[in-house]
Amino acid sequence: MGELKNDIQFLPGVGPKRAALIKRELGINTLDELIHFYPFRYIDRSSITPIASVTPDLAYVQIQGRVVSRNLISIKHLSVMVEDASGRMEMVFFKGVKWSFDKLEPGREFIFFGKPQEYNGRLNIVHPEIDAPQSDPQTRGTLTGVYPSTEKLKSGGVTGKVMCKLQHAALALCLGEVQENLPESIRRMHGLCPLPYALQNIHFPSDMKALELATRRLKFEELFFLQLSLLKQRYVRSRSENGIRMPVVGAPFHACYNDLPYSLTGAQQRVIKEIRADLSAGRQMNRLLQGDVGSGKTMVAVLSSLIAVGNGYQACIMAPTEVLAQQHFANIKKYLEPTGVQCALLTGSTTRKERRPLLEGLADGSISIVVGTHALIEDPVQYKALGLAVIDEQHRFGVSQRAALWAKGPDGRPPHVLVMTATPIPRTLAMTLYGDLDVSVIDEMPPGRKPVQTMLIGENRLPAMYRFIREQIALGRQAFVVYPMIFINEKMEDVSNVEQGYEEILKAFPLEEGYKVAIVHGQQANDVKAFNMKAFVEGRAHILVSTTVIEVGVDVPNASVMVIRSAQRFGLSQLHQLRGRVGRGAEKSYCILVKDLKTGREAQQRLELMCATEDGFEIAEQDMKMRGPGDLEGTQQSGLPVSLNIASLARDGLLLEEARHCAQGVLDADPALQLPENAVLVRELRKDKYDIKDYSKIS
Ligand code: ADP
Ligand code: MG
Repeated sequence: MGELKNDIQFLPGVGPKRAALIKRELGINTLDELIHFYPFRYIDRSSITPIASVTPDLAYVQIQGRVVSRNLISIKHLSVMVEDASGRMEMVFFKGVKWSFDKLEPGREFIFFGKPQEYNGRLNIVHPEIDAPQSDPQTRGTLTGVYPSTEKLKSGGVTGKVMCKLQHAALALCLGEVQENLPESIRRMHGLCPLPYALQNIHFPSDMKALELATRRLKFEELFFLQLSLLKQRYVRSRSENGIRMPVVGAPFHACYNDLPYSLTGAQQRVIKEIRADLSAGRQMNRLLQGDVGSGKTMVAVLSSLIAVGNGYQACIMAPTEVLAQQHFANIKKYLEPTGVQCALLTGSTTRKERRPLLEGLADGSISIVVGTHALIEDPVQYKALGLAVIDEQHRFGVSQRAALWAKGPDGRPPHVLVMTATPIPRTLAMTLYGDLDVSVIDEMPPGRKPVQTMLIGENRLPAMYRFIREQIALGRQAFVVYPMIFINEKMEDVSNVEQGYEEILKAFPLEEGYKVAIVHGQQANDVKAFNMKAFVEGRAHILVSTTVIEVGVDVPNASVMVIRSAQRFGLSQLHQLRGRVGRGAEKSYCILVKDLKTGREAQQRLELMCATEDGFEIAEQDMKMRGPGDLEGTQQSGLPVSLNIASLARDGLLLEEARHCAQGVLDADPALQLPENAVLVRELRKDKYDIKDYSKIS
């Protein structure tokens, strides 16, 4: 007993030195950790391809052949000729040259596994995996696992074959101790095999069917516990009754609503209903509102704030930048006119003189809604009764700010929180990142939005593009020209490309001909930036040349052209955000993606996808598939709450939904997980790996 917790160094064939190497390279310390380290691929030992039938379009092949000759071309280049009954093929090594040279003696027979490729008209395999023809009896079976490895592991003697032996020994010692962690009812309902069977077959599948069963079971388990731990946090929160209760909708809401110049979209109405239900329920709201750029999130923020005001509370609306805060304030003030509700703007550049009455107004409650930047939650700001905080563009809001915000609530009760984002987070990712957050989606655009026509051009077509922009300006429209933000180091932005671009645009649109061009980038002082931005927002400049500082939220309905230079350097989601800056007025709008000469194939595909669709969620899904979830924009800072071992968010979306649904059902029936049959779940959740950081609230 107790084998699972044992150190791997006591396994036959390991010892302290190899154990140290495995710990360093793979982070595996105990037998328990070892048997949860799975192969990422399997070689079908039963299928050997004759050399004559190998073609370069095969993904991987396994050939069995005799070494004819080995040729050391340099100390870093070994060429080995291999022959079977059907033909000859070259194996090439640029790494581990000495080791391979010693091993591959002429006359001996081996199995080679790898990706065939064509070089100078001939086929070869670079760095094939090498194996003896008859595998060990231990690791036989037709499917053999291939484990993730490193150069250091291999040169330290922990080859793929050794790893198989270790797994075999570890399973023999401790498989009997492995305890099932899913209740039988769940396993039956979802067709999941027992855990010991899954572990045995993930390492040494008896056949394809067994491997599929094992894989499904282990993926499900991983996703299920992830969701269970996240959803459980939500249950804990929803049971606490110290949320501010806002039972009525109130007069200010109706005054604003009845005076709207348009009717709300169905999606806006639905979301407002969801928020109303949250606010009146007596527990703290923590809601993420997703809506594509231009879907009308501001209106939702305003109406939600007015519910707070109608119940005697204050609301704050926080934007990531000064310019955005100003723009929000100007918009919101308009909407508030019919209500008589007092609204103020507070940012870093609010002068001390303006600040005093403002702070007094917030402290005595005469100001009901305040719009601003992070200044809103700084120390000197005291609210009489802050009931709701709306945060626009969540990924700029850190964990410490969140703590500061919660402390601003009345009598130690946290204000309700509504986080708004235009970053379309794919469903699977949202379910993981925000498992304990309620999510609302505005999936409908206000009527009258014209589709944006997107084109991809090379730099040779710039003169034609300038002609087109002149035509648009002649029609009274404006244009953005955006350059990628290039950083010299983390803080310093290299603005030479924008500045060059500005010169170029000035030449094509000379002042003498009446053209006015503004430039905005991160190296400018705040007031310069704001001044230039304002010139464009107010229509005094025809063209705004900038870096991606304009990415979020700037609203210039009169702009009809968005030019994106070096477009291949941008991520899909970012391109989508930028494109969302146009198409907001009544006129037809255009997005022109200009690619540089050296644009790779993958980048080209991304840009073509942009031309093909305007659906932000589709773009986000594709983005995730192409780049992997860890890399998705807006999530780098927060990362995933836990790392996944076998499941993949990009590929296992359906299984994630199934697991989440299952976890939800368990908690609905037994919120505190007190039933005896759920004891196994509680035991599993106590493990360190589910000690999830508080990512999911806001950040
Ligand atoms: P975002 O979700 O990007 O913040 P906004 O709230 O800025 O979008 O709204 C974009 C534009 O759509 C604004 O000009 C706003 O006045 C307008 N708008 C919002 N809701 C509606 C609606 N239901 N019908 C018509 N126009 C709307
Ligand atoms: Mg907005």
